[in-house]
Amino acid sequence: MSSIFYDEKDLHDIAQIKRFMEILTMVPGAKEEYKKDPEGFLLKNQVPFGREELEFKMTNRADLRSARAVHPGAKIEKYIEFTHKKLDWRDDLRNASTPQNSTMKKWRDRQIIRCEGEFGYRNHSYIHTVLTLELTSGCSVGCPYCGLNAGKLSRIYRATPENLEEWRAVLTAAKEVIGDGAGYGTCYYATEPMDNPDYEKFVAVYRDVFGRLPQITTAASLRNKERTRKLLQDMMEEGDTIYRFSLQSLEQLKEIRETFTPEELILVELLPQYKEAPDSHFVKAGRNAQEEEYGGTIACLTGFVVNMAEHTIRLTTPVTASERYPTGEAILCRESFTDAEDLRRRMQDMIRTHMKLLIGPKEKIQLYPYFDYTVSSKCVKIMSKEYYTIRYDKPEEILGMKEILPLLKQGNMTKRELVDCLQKEEGKWGVKPEFLFYFLNYFWKQGLLVDHDLYPEE
Ligand code: SF4
Repeated sequence: MSSIFYDEKDLHDIAQIKRFMEILTMVPGAKEEYKKDPEGFLLKNQVPFGREELEFKMTNRADLRSARAVHPGAKIEKYIEFTHKKLDWRDDLRNASTPQNSTMKKWRDRQIIRCEGEFGYRNHSYIHTVLTLELTSGCSVGCPYCGLNAGKLSRIYRATPENLEEWRAVLTAAKEVIGDGAGYGTCYYATEPMDNPDYEKFVAVYRDVFGRLPQITTAASLRNKERTRKLLQDMMEEGDTIYRFSLQSLEQLKEIRETFTPEELILVELLPQYKEAPDSHFVKAGRNAQEEEYGGTIACLTGFVVNMAEHTIRLTTPVTASERYPTGEAILCRESFTDAEDLRRRMQDMIRTHMKLLIGPKEKIQLYPYFDYTVSSKCVKIMSKEYYTIRYDKPEEILGMKEILPLLKQGNMTKRELVDCLQKEEGKWGVKPEFLFYFLNYFWKQGLLVDHDLYPEE
């Protein structure tokens, strides 16, 4: 079976190389062993290729797209092509998720750019999904590292005829409010998809409404192996999505490899969530934030989470985990709904109330603290603590920003005060106040200015 990521004739080779890479990156000591005795390592791990077929180099270790085969024509070329297609797919998914609702689109665009400044390269892997649905309340797995700090499994939304009807109505209402972008989310969030015995029934309706299969991340892939195998088969037949299995121990990795063939796992990313994994990385959010030490996020949603078991809806966007936002998600509001029509109204209300297009006159205008700037006679640069930099070269931009940036950095003035100040000082800076107003709005859209919905004024 072919997919958007590979051609069927390459399936075997790519699957074998993928498994080889998983051993190297997930088994402690594997890289060192391979370096010492490559041929012995390949034999022991039943990799059916020689070393030359697998060698690659990266010009930038943070960028998978910089990978190239050392030997032209080697098998690894197909694998690299496969990984690039997966990266392209992730980018496509972010674009496809764009809401047709124009207010929501502008709000999401602003949050995406804010996250670029806040998280740098890590933001490239956030889809900023606009609608995600939960089919249980809480989660049975209880991972000690759970970045969303999911509570215990307490309720399951079963596929009764009434619930299936309500589910369809909810999906349809969301699609009407948000647009087709609503169909690029998932049917789990701070939940485990396998916890719902009727997950497949709900997904059948989801496919009917949105015309696509939602992605799965599960920490319970070994709970019912035949169920997982069937889910994998359906996913491979569809061929245009990737599933993810979280692994809590090295033993689970071993069991996964014994249970599923490399070909069965071709479209599954394995996520090692155990401390010994050489490349494991845990963000300090949710249950994993230790002793009040916070940082990062695993949230990748800039939109609505609808929980069907609780009949609640919340609006959220990723932020760096902190005392205010321990799970690395700013929850802007959370409400209960009674039925699909009520949900539709609440979504529309949340868009109106919380997705501001302009900063209010009484709000303080300040640059996010992770931004700094430099001014020279040739240009102004605004840089975040991550790699993100914006540069302005025009003389009138330099003149105006030289004056306005210190005020934004101090962040003591409200928009009205700043506007008054600019009007009084007209002429002094050599640029018209209108030009500076334009920049304030532009900075807002660029996610440079603190959004007081996310960070209320003290
Ligand atoms: S990480 Fe996922 S599976 Fe683990 S407890 Fe949290 S929600 Fe459940």
